[in-house]
Amino acid sequence: MKSFEQLGLSEEVLKVLKHKGFEEPTPIQEKTIPAILTGDKDIVGQAQTGTGKTAAFGLPIIELLQEKAKNVQALVLVPTRELAIQVAEEIYSLKGKKNLSIVPIYGGQAIDLQLRKLRKGVDIVVGTPGRIIDHLKRRTLKVDNISHLVLDEADEMLNMGFLEDVEEILKQTSSEKRTLLFSATMPPEILKISKKYMGEYEVLKVTSGQLTTSQTDQIYFEVGVTDKFEALCRIIDIEEGFFGLIFCRTKIDVDHVASHLTERGYDADALHGDISQNLREKILNRFKKRSVNILVATDVAARGIDVKDITHVINYALPQDPEAYVHRIGRTGRAGKEGIAITFITPSEYRKLQSIKRRAKTDIRKAKLPKVKEIITSKKQRIKVNLEEIIQSNLKNEYLEMSKDLLLKNDPEHVLAALLQQSFAGELDEESYAQIKEGVVDSKGKTRLFVGQGKENGLTNKKLADIIKDKCRISNDKIRDIQILDRFSFVTLPFHEAETVLSYFKTKKRSSGIYITKAKKGKK
Ligand code: ADP
Ligand code: MG
Repeated sequence: MKSFEQLGLSEEVLKVLKHKGFEEPTPIQEKTIPAILTGDKDIVGQAQTGTGKTAAFGLPIIELLQEKAKNVQALVLVPTRELAIQVAEEIYSLKGKKNLSIVPIYGGQAIDLQLRKLRKGVDIVVGTPGRIIDHLKRRTLKVDNISHLVLDEADEMLNMGFLEDVEEILKQTSSEKRTLLFSATMPPEILKISKKYMGEYEVLKVTSGQLTTSQTDQIYFEVGVTDKFEALCRIIDIEEGFFGLIFCRTKIDVDHVASHLTERGYDADALHGDISQNLREKILNRFKKRSVNILVATDVAARGIDVKDITHVINYALPQDPEAYVHRIGRTGRAGKEGIAITFITPSEYRKLQSIKRRAKTDIRKAKLPKVKEIITSKKQRIKVNLEEIIQSNLKNEYLEMSKDLLLKNDPEHVLAALLQQSFAGELDEESYAQIKEGVVDSKGKTRLFVGQGKENGLTNKKLADIIKDKCRISNDKIRDIQILDRFSFVTLPFHEAETVLSYFKTKKRSSGIYITKAKKGKK
């Protein structure tokens, strides 16, 4: 591991880094900073979200640009308005006293303001492709003399359909520029673009997400679809300072979960693509300032967003692929802080989780949902701590006087209990939590079923298999490990088939005389 001093950065920049509190370069910074500073090839840099890719290109670009140039020297393309602002701010904060001007250019902001800034002369433009093209067409921005072009969050830029815009912009840049492409994931399309538009390039990668495995505790809970929301509430409630991002797959789910949380009294906001840019910014700011502590989002809406000290990332629904998983959980456990990533899976998603685990080379361990009793104990504990803090700090006279009045006529224990009851009614009530069924799953994605008949009832291997086959229309090859004991039996089926059998025998229990249920854990 090298230090910033060993990467060839100037005294001025080193001072800034110290001031910002960056102690050492992240792995991707360690690779790209010297490569950009001293090499001359184009660069493709890959590292997961939250690994400091902005500084990985921002720092060397700041070093290489000239002061008092007459033209735009660097163009950074980013997929969203938030990122344009965020990246421009990060670069600005890294430049120190060097005389460089940096402007974010994005749709939604008044074009006049951007024109004024551009006219004054700008060194680094950070912009979204659409608005950059607008300015190129109006000839209010020229990029034919840039020395550096950065494609940041390139995977996301592709996802959002910016390929044509990016190509259009590339055509207007000089052939002498250096191109630096940064991305959290490397789908084949990106390498195709690199081959087509970049000169000789070097790929610098930081794989297997060092941040993920070391800083983020990854667990999963198996819950039925209908129990997910209840499980989510339990997780939020047991934590002392929950500050989390909850991922859903669709906009509809995002709205649904966020509004349910709000109804239940949580401070939650929703973020997805249908929400206007203006509102998105407001929502993000509220979250960053912690006015709300829960943000429910789709992958696209949350990508690239950098919020510090997120305690929990919750995959309310499994992500599409392992890359997205790594991307999502990269939001927590950043820069030395620990975080927890929680994934909900329904029994039928077990296989998908396994494949994510394998391909993302990460360990996701199974955990048990907190019990209602545990949550209530933890809440009580927090209430006590809070009260003690208030007692120590700022008791106001008017309350002290009321307290004296009340104590004249009542027992102190009763007064206090009445106050607690009034303040926390419902919150400490076990009844306010619904029951959750946690499934029984073995490691192969199958369910072991218990059958309430055995040899004594004349049941045999074949008979049991026939009953399952005929009554539930399940093919023979799905039926595994039948075990006939004296008074009961076991059989293993894949999740889906097991559910079919269970629901069949639930309704037909009487007529068939057979009782089937999920086997208790540990019985094989
Ligand atoms: P990425 O683009 O890879 O998702 P960012 O560039 O947005 O990551 O950086 C994530 C956060 O980490 C930012 O808040 C940034 O200031 C911080 N950061 C970057 N480099 C370092 C470093 N070397 N040490 C500590 N924090 C850093
Ligand atoms: Mg980034």
